[in-house]
Amino acid sequence: MTGELSGYDAVAEARSVRNVLDIHWSRICSRLQAEVGEVEYRTWLKQISIGPVDGDEITLNLPTRFLRDWVRTQYGDRLSALWNAELPSIRRVELQVGRPDPVAEPEGAAGDEVGSADAAPAAGAVDERVAEARSELSRHDLAAPLDPRFTFDTFVVGKPNEFAYACARRVAERPSSPGFNPLFLYGGVGLGKTHLMHAIGSELTRGGKVSVAYMSAEKFMYRFIAAIRSQSTMEFKEQLRSVDVLMIDDLQFLIGKDNTQEEFFHTFNALVDAGRQIVVSADKSPSDLSGLEDRLRTRLGCGMVADIHATTFELRISILESKAAASGVPVPAKVLEFLAHKITSNVRELEGALNRLIAHANLFGRPVTLEATQDVLHDILKAHDRRVTIEEIQRKVAEHWNIRLTDMSSARRARAVARPRQVAMYLAKQLTSRSLPEIGRKFGNRDHTTVMHAVARVTELMERDSAFAEDVELLRRMLES
Ligand code: ADP
Ligand code: MG
Repeated sequence: MTGELSGYDAVAEARSVRNVLDIHWSRICSRLQAEVGEVEYRTWLKQISIGPVDGDEITLNLPTRFLRDWVRTQYGDRLSALWNAELPSIRRVELQVGRPDPVAEPEGAAGDEVGSADAAPAAGAVDERVAEARSELSRHDLAAPLDPRFTFDTFVVGKPNEFAYACARRVAERPSSPGFNPLFLYGGVGLGKTHLMHAIGSELTRGGKVSVAYMSAEKFMYRFIAAIRSQSTMEFKEQLRSVDVLMIDDLQFLIGKDNTQEEFFHTFNALVDAGRQIVVSADKSPSDLSGLEDRLRTRLGCGMVADIHATTFELRISILESKAAASGVPVPAKVLEFLAHKITSNVRELEGALNRLIAHANLFGRPVTLEATQDVLHDILKAHDRRVTIEEIQRKVAEHWNIRLTDMSSARRARAVARPRQVAMYLAKQLTSRSLPEIGRKFGNRDHTTVMHAVARVTELMERDSAFAEDVELLRRMLES
């Protein structure tokens, strides 16, 4: 592809270079497709056409500025890495707005255009692109596939999630019943919202009569933007409005995305008016989702709002028992208790830890023991260790009882000071891994027996005085969070 070649020769050489590049590119495409999934790939990456190579840089063309910017930020690094892995001489990828390199087209190859990176696509080409994008859009499924593992059978029910579970079951049995439309599920990360939505979807599609569309709010937005880009918003709307059940996961993503919210609002109304079921999840209740339009929040709160609370120790044990049983690897009860005690944040992490233990046991053919657990999960457990310092404990406790921080280490023995000091020692023992002598030193060089006495005294008082116990528990919770 140099200026010295001309006419037919130039085209011929360009073609053979292109053949080689095409082979590499098709391999890269297969990998990308596997990495990002079919929908993502078709929506964004399939629009890429390869341009010329210049030194260590290859140009990739995208039909619009929007697409180019999107692909650059989302996939730029990955594209460079993949090209470099295929062809080590290529170190950089340049993304630009432009039509496919003409030599790649079977017809209409034009020598004088070889290697040019003309940014302005011809009008006919735009129409073609739009038509192509449009048919792509309608060809693949509107919704994301349902995960077959997330069913009602595999969902472990306990106090924190029983209400949400019951509501989900109810919707799966009788969609669009008054009072349950929309169903709004909310709760923290990894507590089972997505699991319940998929369970509803699987249950409903099992009969084959009900059409269900499940997608994250994020995907909803991308699809909407893609529809605008391909001038096919009408099709997009129609597709959405033709489903029996629409489920949108993680709605909080739409905060600040006004146009998408608007579109969702209209879809929502059209579906509910037509007697279809909507299921939505978010990390907060409708009233706490500030940043969503008021009218949308109001409508979201009109059906059934069900929250999933943080897990309890009992629920965590049940979940672990169920997952351990399903794996077929025997896991001793004390290991399950240890995990349920240590990993309290969410079910996803709990599950991850158990999966790792099980994989390890399978791989090495060794039984799961408490020692092995501590070893295998070393990093996870460390991250979950409470990192409260004695100073923090002293500060919080002093604030709570309105005494001076210096009194934590002073020699004053008045009860108004001595009792909070004992509580702080007790909490230091409970929440840190410091030894008794270490704790004593932080409290004005007191002896370890003083700390021991404080721990015993506070424990005893907590048993006798429930108001006091509540105070201490409250402090503990504040320090732990
Ligand atoms: P969320 O959508 O609320 O962030 P997910 O539904 O993705 O959480 O749940 C995270 C993981 O924890 C999933 O693998 C899910 O199967 C599992 N999980 C959550 N709650 C339960 C439960 N009650 N019983 C069984 N598995 C659960
Ligand atoms: Mg989720």
